[in-house]
Amino acid sequence: MRTIEKIQAPILVPPTPKRASELLLASFDQLAVDSDYLLNKPFGQFESNGENYTMPRYIFLGPQGGGDAIRIGIFATIHGDEPEGSLGLFRFLSALKANPEIARGYILFIYPICNPTGFEDNTRHSRTGKDLNREFWNNSTEPEVQLLQTEIWTHAFDGIINLHSDNTSEGLYGFVNGEVLSENLLEPALRAAEQFLPRNEQRVIDGFPAQRGIVYDCYNGVLRALSGLTPAPFEITFETPQGTALPLQVEAFNAALETILTEYRQFMAIGQNL
Ligand SMILES: [Zn+2]
Repeated sequence: MRTIEKIQAPILVPPTPKRASELLLASFDQLAVDSDYLLNKPFGQFESNGENYTMPRYIFLGPQGGGDAIRIGIFATIHGDEPEGSLGLFRFLSALKANPEIARGYILFIYPICNPTGFEDNTRHSRTGKDLNREFWNNSTEPEVQLLQTEIWTHAFDGIINLHSDNTSEGLYGFVNGEVLSENLLEPALRAAEQFLPRNEQRVIDGFPAQRGIVYDCYNGVLRALSGLTPAPFEITFETPQGTALPLQVEAFNAALETILTEYRQFMAIGQNL
């Protein structure tokens, strides 16, 4: 007599829920494994509501140039709900992996997620409710800010680039601070990115007077170098219009970053020949 065996359903073990940041950083980690130039160097730990977080950092050691290596810090997602900048950095690092010459003469310090709790919660602010981009050099007790300040201070960057995406803007724009040369880097960066998205031509952007998508002022407490340094690093904040197609924003970030490296290298070469 045949018996019908009960077919047992396989026991499905649901995958451990992963933080969105872990999934994204796994892609960065893989790039570092595959690239001779890219190092995976997370740098600081902090705790939020009993959970531990690490600040991700990748270091791209470009092929050696003629003089001292130029150190640039590139920061994304200090506002947790702007993952576009992180994806732009991944695109940029993929381009560098294919063609390391783009970064000849540079050491790039890449910070893809500067606000890990906000990234996880998809909020502009960190989980403590703070806009971290108003906390810098202001005796902040926010651990992310303290860790990033230490990085900025320790590495004495020649240039600082912040990546943001703005849901109130219909076009590309940016802020310049620090060294006057910043504006001469942002203009060609905007031009290169305009292959993909229009520029914001409004006379007032984010409450500040603007000229052809360039703002010469900024909020207090933004992620930047400590003021008064000589020589001052160049400082650029590059903003994409968040409401536009993500692949175009990603390409715009990449085009802007590649252009800034090319232009700044030329400025440095001219300077050394003077
Ligand atoms: Zn932002």
